[in-house]
Amino acid sequence: MLNRPVTSLPGVGVKKAQALKGLGLQTVRDVLFSFPRTYKDFQAVLEPEEVQPGAVQLVHGPLLQLRERPISQGRRLIQATLGGQLGLTWFVHHRAPGPSFLYRKLQRAREVWVYGLVKEGTLFPEMTSPEVYTRPPEHRGLMPIYPLAAGITNNQRVNWVRAALRHLGELKECLPPELVGRYLERREALRQIHFPSDWASYHRARERLVFEEFFLFHLGLQRGQRQREGIAHQKDGELVARFLQQLPFELTADQKAALGQVARDMEEPRPMRRLVQGEVGSGKTIVAEYGAVKAVASGGQVAMMVPTEVLALQMVERLRRSLEPLGIRVELLIGAMKGKEQEQVRVALARGEIDVVVGTHALITDKVEYKNLTLAIVDEQHRFGVRQRAALLGKGNPDLLVMSATPIPRSLALTMYGDLDITEIRQLPAHRQPVDTRLIHPDRRADVYRYVLSRVKKGEQAYVVFPLVEESEHVDLKAAVQEMEELQRGLLSQARVGLIHGQMGRAKEEVFQAFARGELDVLIATTVVEVGMNVPNATVMVIENAERFGLAQLHQLRGRVGRGKKPGICFLLAYNLSPQSRARLEVVRRSNDGFFIAEQDLLLRGPGDLLGVRQWGQPYFRLADLTRDKDLLQQAAEAAKALLSRDPHLEGYPELAAELDQYPL
Ligand code: ADP
Ligand code: MG
Repeated sequence: MLNRPVTSLPGVGVKKAQALKGLGLQTVRDVLFSFPRTYKDFQAVLEPEEVQPGAVQLVHGPLLQLRERPISQGRRLIQATLGGQLGLTWFVHHRAPGPSFLYRKLQRAREVWVYGLVKEGTLFPEMTSPEVYTRPPEHRGLMPIYPLAAGITNNQRVNWVRAALRHLGELKECLPPELVGRYLERREALRQIHFPSDWASYHRARERLVFEEFFLFHLGLQRGQRQREGIAHQKDGELVARFLQQLPFELTADQKAALGQVARDMEEPRPMRRLVQGEVGSGKTIVAEYGAVKAVASGGQVAMMVPTEVLALQMVERLRRSLEPLGIRVELLIGAMKGKEQEQVRVALARGEIDVVVGTHALITDKVEYKNLTLAIVDEQHRFGVRQRAALLGKGNPDLLVMSATPIPRSLALTMYGDLDITEIRQLPAHRQPVDTRLIHPDRRADVYRYVLSRVKKGEQAYVVFPLVEESEHVDLKAAVQEMEELQRGLLSQARVGLIHGQMGRAKEEVFQAFARGELDVLIATTVVEVGMNVPNATVMVIENAERFGLAQLHQLRGRVGRGKKPGICFLLAYNLSPQSRARLEVVRRSNDGFFIAEQDLLLRGPGDLLGVRQWGQPYFRLADLTRDKDLLQQAAEAAKALLSRDPHLEGYPELAAELDQYPL
């Protein structure tokens, strides 16, 4: 039953199933594993004189002194008391003549149940805009509130969960016996997370399920990671020496240290699993190139996987420039290539006629075979899932180098990346000047765009970035696109402007290419420009609604400008500036250290919001919060490691292995 589609639940037809699909729920099991986002506390019904200011409470009593008056165009204020002891106010929109709907409903009721936050008032405690029931709420205890979609009510979701819970018997405990005792049993945890008996039970249920998520995540991450013997690459020879000699600059100390670590890892027979963290422009690509030359010098092949086709194109050009003079054969493999071209590349790879291949997911399809893949490089790793990484590693038994431009605090990186060794490049190459960053009041928006035009007249280029937190959010997208078009037609009408956003598909790459070739002066974009773009002629960046971005993301964005000879300048336009968001933006304005900024982001934004982490942690965790649940993450990582060292293939744990196969890695 649990694996059946949601339509097997009572009252779910094709339409509801469609809406549930929008929430990511397709099977009965999904319904069971989609947890409440919050609860209403209906455990106790208080009398008006029993309320405690500061808490959310359910209170019952006679409704007295009810009155309604208009306060502005179309708005009404309704006031009353509960038994003369608890003040109640509601604000309602009501344009038509006569009393509002809520007022009429209240007028008919003699007694009501109100639910909301109780605050200290001038005479009595008060509640503002509480929910109001004219009959006692059916649900007692903690009432789950689920994420909803159009056409679905919370009550329906409650009923479906109840129906799904009837088949809980099918679900097996998946934790190994030695861990079961430490946490709540699985079925009980599921029951309690949906319908907790009290807050203590909720916390125990949540703890168990969060542990389970982390544990499965880490088993997936660590399983089979260092089991096999790896490749021992040769010590640096003549080819590597030539590569290093032809570099047009002196390596920074951090780069030298990174090359040293990669050299050691690659020469050892133990498989290399190394993450290189360093912000945009810190010179990570040299490390990748070095590894590639070293692999080829040892007779191996190299695959470099990047998240988008634009990046693949940029990277292949770059590697051709740096590696082909050394006689290294570099090729591209992306989905946009013609079938026949792809086929040619695949054949050449299988024959060993290509040394280095750069591509997107096209690199890991079943059709691709390598003659002798000894080094896999994954750029911007947070865009890839653990399974994709594993698929690449399955194409041989290569060493792995992961490059990430989103520095995250080391403690978090250690636990999140599991078994990877970490190299940090903190130093920027000497010629890189910090981007001059200015916080601008929206009153001066027009001035900012005049400034942009003045730089455009000098032949320079600019980015304008609009926030779009959720690229899939339709409403948001429409609003953003509208604003972008207005800017294009209005303040920037004198420039050649291109516009890209996440839902444009291939057309986006053409616009970007045109910008890269200098055929456009300004690129207005949603955050799709974030990853790895390199247009050295771009010097100005304007970030609209900067307060809506994460700090790490802002820092990454501004790293796009000033990559050439001229220094970059970045304007942060903030329309809704609370003291907190000002403090946050000040961090970015003052500091240019991506690692420091990431740490501050964590401190200032608090749990769950760390950008970059949230971005790629999201699909793995339904309940867990990477900062709040740090301790559980640590425990789960250790437990996973201990278990795998005893039983690398989980042969003694079929339930666990089965569960892991279902887990979205
Ligand atoms: P990342 O991959 O970390 O974003 P890149 O490797 O693309 O950074 O380096 C950014 C730019 O800086 C490139 O143009 C590169 O040639 C240059 N660069 C890298 N290392 C140095 C260095 N040590 N000194 C001077 N320029 C450097
Ligand atoms: Mg890069």
